[in-house]
This record gives sequence, C-alpha cells and structure tokens, in this order.
Amino acid sequence: DENRKDKNVRYLLESVPQLEKIFKVIGKIGEGTFSSVFLAYLKSNPNKYYAIKQLVPTVSPNRILRELKCLKVIGGTDYVAGVELCIREAGNVVFVMEYLYHDKFADYALNMPTGELRDYMRALLTALRRVHQFKIIHRDVKPSNFLYNRQKKKYMLVDFGLAQPLDSIKSNPSISRNQCLDERNKVNSLIKDTKKSTDNRCICLGKPKVCSICIMRPEQNVNRAGTPGFRAPEVLLKHHPPTTAIDVWASGVMMLCILCSSHCFFRPPNDIAALAEIVAIFGTEAVQKCAKALGKKFICGADTQALDLRDICQKSRKRKRNPNSKSSSSVLQEDYPDAAYDLLQKLLDLNHATRITAEEALNHSFLKS
Ligand code: ADP
Ligand code: MG
Repeated sequence: DENRKDKNVRYLLESVPQLEKIFKVIGKIGEGTFSSVFLAYLKSNPNKYYAIKQLVPTVSPNRILRELKCLKVIGGTDYVAGVELCIREAGNVVFVMEYLYHDKFADYALNMPTGELRDYMRALLTALRRVHQFKIIHRDVKPSNFLYNRQKKKYMLVDFGLAQPLDSIKSNPSISRNQCLDERNKVNSLIKDTKKSTDNRCICLGKPKVCSICIMRPEQNVNRAGTPGFRAPEVLLKHHPPTTAIDVWASGVMMLCILCSSHCFFRPPNDIAALAEIVAIFGTEAVQKCAKALGKKFICGADTQALDLRDICQKSRKRKRNPNSKSSSSVLQEDYPDAAYDLLQKLLDLNHATRITAEEALNHSFLKS
C-alpha cells in the first residue's frame, strides 16, 4: 500500500514538477472519475495544509475552465471551496485548495442531534444559495462533495466538475429535426421489409415491447450528471431545461439520510431504479402528477400509496436502534422537531417549480430559530 501511495505521488510530481518547489505531498486522499486529490503542506510552513486536485488529462479544457471559474468567482466564502493556485503543465492541470479535514458521512449521519442538523443544513443551503446566485447549477450535491469537520464545525462545498451555468443550457437538447428525419428515414428503409407499418401511431403503449414507431422517435437527451440516488425526479424524467432546484432536491436527500440515521437512503443502480424508489415513497399518483406537469407520461405497473416521510424516518431510526443492529449504540434517541420534517418535505417537493429555493429554505422556521 505504501508503494502504491508513493506511485500516485510520484505520478503527480512528474506531471507537475513545479509543485515540488512549494509543497511536500503526503499522499492521495480522494479519487473520483475525473480526478485524484492529494494532501500536501507548504515547505515554508509545515502547519499549512492544502488539497491538490489533479484532473485526469482527458478532461476537456472547457470543463476545466468552468470548474476553475466556479472556484475562483464563487468560492472562498459561504462554505464554498475556493482556489489558492492553479498550475498547468502541458496537458496536466492541478487546483490547489485549502485543506479541510472532514468526517465520514456514514459516521455523522448516524447520530446527528437537532442543533447539529440545523447548523449542517444551514451551511449546506448557504453554500447552495451562493452558487445559485451566480446562476450556476452544481449538479453533484452529495455527502462526498460537502465536506464537514464535526469538531471544528467547518463545512466546504467542493467539486464543480459537473457544474453548469444556466445561460449555457441550450433550449433544445435533442438532435435537430433534420437529423431526426434522416434517422427516421434510415430506420424506415431498414424495417420496410420486415414490417408493414404505414400508421404513424404508437402501438406499444402499455405493452412489454417497444414498437418501431417509438424506436424511431428522437432520443430524449438531457445532461444527467450526478449520482442516481441524489437525482431529482425531473432529472430522472429527462425534463429540460434543468434548474437550480435539482441541487435543492439533492440537499433534501442528504437531510433524509440524516433524519433516518442512514448514510445511504437511496442506493439505486440506475435511473429507472431511482425512479422506482421515489415511487415507493411518494406514491404512483404523485409521481404521475409530477410527470404530467413536465409534459411526460409516466406508466407504472403497480399502484403504490404515498408514505409519510416522518413515519419513514422514525421507523428507520427505530430499526437502527435495534440491539441486533451493528450501530445501535450510537443512534440518536431523541426525535426531531416538526419543523425539521416540514423543511424536509419542502426540499423534497416532487415539483421542481414549487420546490423551496435555498434562499427560502434559509428563512424556514427550522433553520431560523
Ligand atoms: P471528484 O471530481 O474526483 O469527485 P472532488 O473535488 O469531489 O473530486 O474531490 C474528491 C474527494 O477528495 C472529496 O470527496 C474529498 O474527500 C477530497 N477533497 C477534495 N477537496 C478537498 C479539500 N479541499 N479538503 C479536503 N479534502 C478534499
Ligand atoms: Mg466529488
């Protein structure tokens, strides 16, 4: 393991040799799809720690620029990570950020008292309000991107790798009409021999098979960046254009986890499973209504009744307190106040148009008091 650690550090220093003049790199502390993060301290001041984020060389220059801009323009205040230094060496880019030692979500989600939950949600929503003021969607709000140091009560929203400015969003994400007609003609000629379909009406609705007419429809293409369990219903239903409300939903999922004393409430392997989990909680009817408001039709085999969020949280905590459960001793005994459940409900509003904003949430009675 020591060897591997060294190999990662060596690779970083070979890619960006300038770092060695200023920093002593200790080791790798984080890894995502598009980056590796290292812990380092200043050679001139061993008490000053930094996180060095090395982007994989295949990340597009546009994306790197967007991430850097977010850190530089938005970051540095309101619990949003800032950038101290950025170095480019040939195809390699590193961001140097203030280091925040942080706890594991799996540990603190398990036993967070009301007061601590209030401070945590207040910090998270303050960070989101800041990001949203700049008309940017973070798109990847989740525990591993919101660092929390329990002892020092410090917070940091990181990872703008998927952030998207609202004004960069095209009005129509699907392929152009001409492209679409082209595709349709191609498919048409392909299926001409096998199927005599002169009718243009879909014939597969409600059947366990997709008809040729539906296969020819243009794909509903939207940016689905993020992690399935934290994706808002409108993202799962491929609504376009996206809004900052998708980050608010994700913060609601984080709150739900804490209220349930569970570090992973939703853990769907894909979007369909994610939608099924949302149906299991909010009920078929509510999800159908949500889809309808987005101009989509949602068909679901089973008719599921909506559950009460507060009831889910209480039952989940009770289950975790069971003496047979591994973590029973550390799970909180007290219940959360009504206001906490009320805020949860508003963060997890299925309708993105009526969902509470970060700014409004900060004025909610749970966070005000
Ligand atoms: P990725 O795009 O690869 O997910 P992130 O920016 O989310 O990269 O960083 C990955 C991980 O590295 C984080 O989840 C966190 O554990 C750690 N990390 C990132 N920035 C910092 C920081 N400023 N201080 C401490 N740890 C950090
Ligand atoms: Mg991340």
